[in-house]
Amino acid sequence: MDRAASLLHSVFGFPDFRPGQAEIVQAVLEGRNTLAIMPTGGGKSLCFQLPALCRDGVTVVISPLIALMRDQVRALKAAGVEAGALTSGNTEEETEEVFAALDQGRLKLLYMAPERLASGATATLLRRVGCSLIAVDEAHCVSQWGHDFRPDYLRIGELRRMLRVPLAAFTATADEETRAEIVTRLFDGEAPATFLRGFDRPNIHLAFAVKSTPRDQILRFAAARKGQSGIVYCGTRAKTEVLAQALREAGHPSVAYHGGMEAEARRQVEIRFQREDGLIVVATVAFGMGIDKPDIRWVAHADLPKSIEGYYQEIGRAGRDGSPAETLTLYGPDDIRLRRSQIDEGAAPPDRKAADHARLNALLGLAEALKCRRQVLLGYFGETAEPCGNCDLCDRPAQLFDATEAVRKALSAILRTGEWFGAGHLIDILTGNATAKVRERGHDQLPTYAVGRDLSKAAWGAVFRQMMGQDLVRPDPDRHGALRMTEAARPILRGEAQITLRRDTVASAGEREAVKA
Ligand code: ADP
Ligand code: ZN
Repeated sequence: MDRAASLLHSVFGFPDFRPGQAEIVQAVLEGRNTLAIMPTGGGKSLCFQLPALCRDGVTVVISPLIALMRDQVRALKAAGVEAGALTSGNTEEETEEVFAALDQGRLKLLYMAPERLASGATATLLRRVGCSLIAVDEAHCVSQWGHDFRPDYLRIGELRRMLRVPLAAFTATADEETRAEIVTRLFDGEAPATFLRGFDRPNIHLAFAVKSTPRDQILRFAAARKGQSGIVYCGTRAKTEVLAQALREAGHPSVAYHGGMEAEARRQVEIRFQREDGLIVVATVAFGMGIDKPDIRWVAHADLPKSIEGYYQEIGRAGRDGSPAETLTLYGPDDIRLRRSQIDEGAAPPDRKAADHARLNALLGLAEALKCRRQVLLGYFGETAEPCGNCDLCDRPAQLFDATEAVRKALSAILRTGEWFGAGHLIDILTGNATAKVRERGHDQLPTYAVGRDLSKAAWGAVFRQMMGQDLVRPDPDRHGALRMTEAARPILRGEAQITLRRDTVASAGEREAVKA
């Protein structure tokens, strides 16, 4: 699994597994027959691609979707993985290239349309080249009663018997009849390791709050849950020590945990947490992988996590016993700036950075959600859901307002000052606060000066934060974090699009935060 986790990072560029992926990858790596049911968009392909890279020999992937196979092969090759496809869409050269790679034992993944199985030569070929795993995408195509029935899928069971290798089947169709048919036809009725888990963890209460006084916010959250086991995640090692100390002073048994500690000291914390009731561990993301404690009652994030996947994984450590558990995630403009600059300053190639920004946007979208958070979270993982009744926005719906005018004023202030300033200075301009800096630069002469007097400083702070959250503006690391407009904002500026923001955070954000912004 360690190798799989490192390839996840180095080859695919993902910081974490998506919900469910780790368990499936592990089962496939162990050579078990597996059936995984995951919603579309849930990340099935990784569950056979990653084991294929870890195992000896070739993994044959059977899929009915030629365009999709070609896309995956292209993406794998771009990531440096030896992959090829045998489909009716191939050019002669492509097919020759695949056979050459097979013969030289270089190929790791061979995609194949089911029609190929009709020829006996295919099975012989696969045996000869050392096929060690069969992956079947869209496994419901084996069901004679479904509308996607592919007669050639019926030959897959035969292929498995002949090659005597494990088979991993994937589908998004979860109804029981289809599942039973897959087990009969692909696995000869012998039950495979089955993974059917919606992503939802309904007993976990979801909540986000704007970071105003983080230390006090965490202390208050912990005080309301005194005596319960919990985890506080922090963005830095230093912060774990400081917060653990503050919690101890407030009378909670609490210890810090981070990657900079000696292995033995870390192990002691893990053991204590496992055994002791009501201990609070204040940790970096280094804490959690091996933790198997069913009754963690709460998880708080003192800083915004790295990605929506990371968020889900970390809050998912709470309430494994199914009893109610609570979470709180703090976030503010500084978090957004920090996470953006971490991505920008990293060593990843440009398209990977773009993907990381997109994943961060998804998390910010969740933080600034306008409706039920669980709907937004599950939607990201490809599941649809009703309003959950167990998140802060179901408890207390957000008040929305048409912020088009405010956002246009803000964008105009950014553009008229050449995209060279941060939110603090821009807010001074908008609210007509004639600071020395405003006067020196002549910004009190701008047409945008004082056009935003209808909103308070704090309200403007929240507008800017939500604009960052919606990726309408981005801090530019080459300009000391000055805000610059993104393409996404152009339609709003041109008056072609409306934008809705949350009013409650506008009202509740304290003056302090606005000053910081
Ligand atoms: P499915 O086949 O289940 O519909 P895909 O395998 O195409 O889904 O994956 C859907 C999306 O999720 C892809 O864009 C993929 O890059 C992304 N994805 C998969 N696994 C991860 C992960 N661990 N972290 C982040 N993104 C992921
Ligand atoms: Zn909800």
